[in-house]
Order: sequence, then structure tokens, then C-alpha cells
Amino acid sequence: ATVLRLVLGDQLDLLHPWFQARPDPAVLVVLMEIRQETDYARHHAQKVLAIFAAMRRFAQQLQEAGHRVHYLRLGNPHNRQSLTGNLDALAQAVGAGVVEAQLPDEWRLDAQLRAHAAQAPYALRLVDSHHFLGARDEAARFFGDGPWLMERFYRHLRQRERVLMDGRQPAGGRWNFDTENRSRWPGDPPEPPDTRRRHDLRALWAEIEAAGVVTMGAPGAEALPWPLDRTEALADLQSFIAHGLPHFGPFQDALSDGHDRLFHSLLSFALNTKMLHPREVIAAAEVAWREGRAPLASVEGFIRQILGWREYVRGVYWARMPDYVELNHLGHTRALPPWFWTGDTRMRCLQRALGQSLQQAHAHHIQRLMVIGNFALLAGLDPAEVHQWYLGVYIDAFEWVEAPNTLGMSQFADGGGITTKPYVSSAAYLDRMGDHCRHCPYDKRQRLGERACPFNALYWDFMDRHADRLRHLPRLAPVYRQLERMSEPDLLALREQARVHLARLDQL
Ligand code: FAD
Repeated sequence: ATVLRLVLGDQLDLLHPWFQARPDPAVLVVLMEIRQETDYARHHAQKVLAIFAAMRRFAQQLQEAGHRVHYLRLGNPHNRQSLTGNLDALAQAVGAGVVEAQLPDEWRLDAQLRAHAAQAPYALRLVDSHHFLGARDEAARFFGDGPWLMERFYRHLRQRERVLMDGRQPAGGRWNFDTENRSRWPGDPPEPPDTRRRHDLRALWAEIEAAGVVTMGAPGAEALPWPLDRTEALADLQSFIAHGLPHFGPFQDALSDGHDRLFHSLLSFALNTKMLHPREVIAAAEVAWREGRAPLASVEGFIRQILGWREYVRGVYWARMPDYVELNHLGHTRALPPWFWTGDTRMRCLQRALGQSLQQAHAHHIQRLMVIGNFALLAGLDPAEVHQWYLGVYIDAFEWVEAPNTLGMSQFADGGGITTKPYVSSAAYLDRMGDHCRHCPYDKRQRLGERACPFNALYWDFMDRHADRLRHLPRLAPVYRQLERMSEPDLLALREQARVHLARLDQL
């Protein structure tokens, strides 16, 4: 009897036990390109392209290694365009009594498979994906009823995984080098070269377009820069370790008007599609420090993102779904302005961050958090819409990691489960971390008037508007002291200015 083994588009893991074992002639591996997956959000064109191209490459590699593979292309007339529809049809066609799947990372797919298992004419078995460092519910068990402090979970994983440890002590005597990792980038050291391989995917793009898939952003199909297999992903990792990692730490929060990547790794797509295992990325960074090729503050800062934040947000997701994506603690309802899909705004920081997102399907963390997310929160944009936008636009956007970052960290929609205060700022912070303001028609110093940077009045209006909900937060105490000292006419003028900005959001 045949066993079907389902591989999802974000499960391209050659190191999974399924593929480490000798190929079994009774097993048929199944991959499918389906409308269900192209249409649950409006995705960036590069995301659809890269995932399908990487799936095709993965199927080919499995076949070359001797595995039997059934690959359903988007345009195949037998494609039922849904996961369970295709599984049922194929199971019947080949007489499969068992279907095995790796645990999906998204609630949506997990629920679909589990619901289907109850009625499917075959046994549906879920196995571990072996991708993360712990189980889905590890963070929930670790925190119990206590507060979900990322730092505690991170230290726990450092100890358990023996990462950057000298015996029982953290390497260098400290767990955290955040205070050294907050510099503006002066333009030197230079941004590392972009050594990523380019792919001509114009034929695949024609297939996607012919199927009528609605996307956003630039396809860039003639020279797609994302890795399509493990070998390419490993080359990108090595390049980052050599050129980016040594400077990652100090400039990880920096913004730059002329440079998109700075010292970021661009590894999130390879990690989230499981071409790379987080453990090997962490190990490569640690070895670079032990061999004197990168300083500890940079290496710790980088490892914290993967061993800490990445594992932590996954725990948040599984603990809080499915209600999580509907949270709206601050009651925000405003629609996204149209320039989220064009980048066509005069605010320079947003123009650059949105433009880059649409052109490249990538923006670095501070652009996502302190430029785009910051504005969305100050302007009171509907968090569910903001979530849909982030879920589509980035090459690395899969709900398990996107939703906690967008709704929890960035939009405070959970009322402070992840952060101890909303991540918002006026123009002063943006100016401190980068040079956009110098190129901007708005004036970073002005709060009122035609040329005033909208972040300023919106910031104070946000704090004022939400005082009942936010005043008690210890980290906002200085902000509320300042607000209380403000004269009534000044406050009224700020409120009025904010009202003007919000009334013509699409023209900012
Ligand atoms: P680097 O800066 O080089 O960091 C290295 C790796 O650390 C990343 O590849 C990523 O795997 C991990 N990492 C860093 N920060 C985080 C974080 N906050 N949460 C989880 N992992 C992290 N990341 C995604 O992978 N998918 C998303 O859909 C996503 N959406 C986001 C939405 C918002 C509003 C915000 C504020 C952040 C989001 N992030 C998301 C986290 C982070 O911005 C990206 O992981 C990062 O920018 C990817 O680029 P990079 O590989 O160059 O990262």
C-alpha cells in the first residue's frame, strides 16, 4: 500500500528524517501549488515566485535522490486547488491508506488537516517538522501563568542548547549586549556586497499570471535574488557570516536613506521555508565569534533574534491562536491609505520603507517596526488590515511569525502581551537612528503647520487619545509627565493638527 507524504511550501527541509532515510518505494511524496495558498492573502509577487520555484527545485532534488514525487503545478487541469481536495483525489488514484504530514506552522493549515482527518478515507498522521528548537507549546509551559518575558525564555534556551555559554556563565559575562547595539550608521564600515544568486523565473511568472493570481509588488522575475535551495541558502549564510555579522550588532537598529540592507542577513526566507535550520545558523554565528571573526556583541545580538525572538513568537502564536488575529486592544478602525500599495507618500522614511518592501519583498526590522508599524499605530489603522498587509508583502511572511510581530510587538493589539509599551515615536527617534529626515520635505522639528512632520502631532495625539489605557505603563511615565505639563492651548493645537493629518492621510 502506498503512503503519501505531504510537503508544504514552507517545509523544504532536506535534513528532515523523511529524506535522510533511504528512499522507500512505498512512499509517494506530494507537493502542490494551489490557489488556496496563493489567495489567503494578497502576497508579494516575489513571495509566490520564490516559494513555487523553491518547491519545484526541492521536488527535483528529491527525485534525483531516488524518492518518488508527485508534483502538482498550479495550471494542471487535475489540480483541485485545495490541500485536502488534492490529497483525497491522489489518495484514491494511487490507493493510499495513509497520508503523513509534517506539523504545519500555521494554525489555518493545522486546523484544516485536523478537521479533515476525522472524515478522510485514509489515516492522516502528523509528524514533527524537527525545525524548531522545541515543541509548539514549550514557551507556554515555560511561562505558565507568569508574564511572557522574552529575555527569560532566551536565557533558558541559551542554557539548554549551550549557546554562547562558558560553563554555566554566559560568554563574556553578560546575557545581553543591547546597550552596545543601538548606533546610527555613519556610512562606514561599508554595506556588505550583495552576493546572492539571481534567477530568471520569467516562465514561472507567466504561469502565475496566466492563472490570474492577484499579487502586489514588483515580480523581478528576470533576476529574483532569493535562494531556491539549501545549497544557495548555505552560500548566503556564509556570505553574511563573513561580511555582515561582524557589524550586525551596533547597526541593527539603524535606518539609512541610501542603503537597504545594511548588515542584516536576509536569511529569513531560507529559515522560514526550512532550507536552513535555526540551529546551524546559530552555530555558524557562534563559531565566527569563537574563531575571532566577529565580536561578541554582534554575535549575541544576532543569535538573540533567532534563538530568542523567533522561538518566542512561535510560542506566542500557538498559545494565543485562533483569537489572536482578531485582537484590537486600542479599538483602531481606520483603513490603510492607498500608498501602502504604491509607496507614494511624501514622508521620506515611509516612502523608502514602503518602496523597498514593494520592490524587494523585504525591509529590515526597524523599517517594519519603527517606520511602517509606528505610523500605522499612531494613525490608528485597523490592526486586522495591517496584519493582512504584512502577511502578504514580505518574502518571509508566514502567519506564525508575522502575526505576533505585527499585532503584538508592532500594533499593541494584544494590550501588551509581548511588549511593555507600544513601539511608537515622534520624528526625533527616526532622526536619531538615520538620515531620512534630511531628504524629507517635512520638517522633523515642527509639530504644527503645513510642513510639520506628521509623526510629531500624531505621536502626542496618540498618547493623549489613549491616556486611559496607557498612562499606567511604567515605561511611559516620562511621556505622560510631559503631556501633563503641556498647556491647554498647545494640546488643543496638537489635537487639531493630528485631526488634519488623519483627515487627509492619503495625501500625506
Ligand atoms: P536579521 O535582522 O538578519 O535577523 C536574523 C534572523 O532573526 C531573521 O532572519 C529572523 O529569522 C530572526 N528574527 C529577527 N527578528 C525577529 C523577530 N522579531 N521575530 C522573529 N524572528 C526574528 N519576520 C519573519 O520572519 N516573518 C515575518 O512575517 C515578519 N513580520 C514582521 C512584522 C513586523 C511588524 C515586524 C516588526 C517584524 C517582523 N518580522 C518578521 C521580524 C523581522 O523584522 C524579520 O525577521 C527580519 O527583518 C528578516 O530579515 P533578516 O533575515 O535580514 O533579519
